[in-house]
Amino acid sequence: MAVPPFDLRRQLETMGPALDQAVLEVLHSGQYIGGKVVAQFEDSFARSVGTAHAVSCNSGTDALVLALRALEVGSGDEVITTAFSFFATAEAISAVGARPVFVDVDPGSYLLNLDQVEAAIGPHTRALLPVHLFGRPLNMERCMALAHRHGLKVVEDCAQAAGSHWAGRPVGTWGDVGCFSFFPTKNLGAAGDGGCITTSDPQLARRMRELAVHGMAERYVHKALGYNSRLDALQAAVLLVKLPHLPSLINARQRHAEAYGQALVHVRGLVLPVQGVVAGHSWNQFVVRIPGAGAQVRNQLRDDLQQQGINTIIYYPIPIHRQQAYGNLGYGVGSLPVTERLADEVLSLPMFPELTVDQRERVVDGLRLALAGDMTAPLQSSSA
Ligand SMILES: *Cc1c(COP(=O)(O)O)cnc(C)c1O
Repeated sequence: MAVPPFDLRRQLETMGPALDQAVLEVLHSGQYIGGKVVAQFEDSFARSVGTAHAVSCNSGTDALVLALRALEVGSGDEVITTAFSFFATAEAISAVGARPVFVDVDPGSYLLNLDQVEAAIGPHTRALLPVHLFGRPLNMERCMALAHRHGLKVVEDCAQAAGSHWAGRPVGTWGDVGCFSFFPTKNLGAAGDGGCITTSDPQLARRMRELAVHGMAERYVHKALGYNSRLDALQAAVLLVKLPHLPSLINARQRHAEAYGQALVHVRGLVLPVQGVVAGHSWNQFVVRIPGAGAQVRNQLRDDLQQQGINTIIYYPIPIHRQQAYGNLGYGVGSLPVTERLADEVLSLPMFPELTVDQRERVVDGLRLALAGDMTAPLQSSSA
């Protein structure tokens, strides 16, 4: 029996009947865009995050674009962010005509290195776009203090971090705007694409809402060039069923993370995520590191695990600043050394709420076997 990196159908075992009913209700209502179910989801999501306004949209990517547009970030502006993230983080900055400026990540947390942000701030810097990557919350007290000192806006990329919090306060409530994704593998997953933007500022909320429907302030009166970016009623219905389960789903992720940590702590050749003080980590991913000179050692471990039926994923093998699409920005090899090293060394273990103890133990045993046995020779030869 193989262990998958995630298994989306497992949630149907508990929520299936409720999901079936919610979807059928929308189908038979005839109201597929906007309406009661979407409004209800936005209210519930705002309440669960603890924010005044939640504006739903088509995806996490669109959430970032709408947030930046509403903050009037555009041509000639720079936005400071991390290159160790999903591509959309930077792509959204470029989509509004601004320029992403990449700062290296912290080697312990893999998040934006706040010690290096100040040096990257220049006359064109308008905003910070930190990412709560893998569900780990960034130190938002420090981030906001830094932003205020320099008069910068803050857009939080919470795509992987629904339910995470820093210092007891949910992510998405610290910055000017929080951007969430409901891509199926995220902490709160739809049955398709979806996203949401949170803010405490009613004017920003209104602007984002207008931009998401073609910049329309009232019917067929367009104030700005916008987008067609809406959350389907069908997706809203699915999310409404799942939202009350989010705390227990995250709790299950946290239990898996703790068990992985305890079982793997003495395995040589493996660097575990730094745990300890981070209570608000929602563990969208459990990412280990396999140090080596280049990606070869890590890739071989992945292949070895695959042969044992254990499927892992590399988030992310090429950092954003080294992607071909960003060749024009001129970031050479070695320009963000920690980010580049992580891209060669990270491996995400199977992690989803419904992972069984059996599956988890198979992953642990598989890793022990691979690192103690077959992997010893390649480990030595590649570092020579
Ligand atoms: C998934 C993700 C996005 C984009 O969300 P979509 O809903 O897929 O558009 C943005 N940033 C990060 C960090 C993500 O993981």
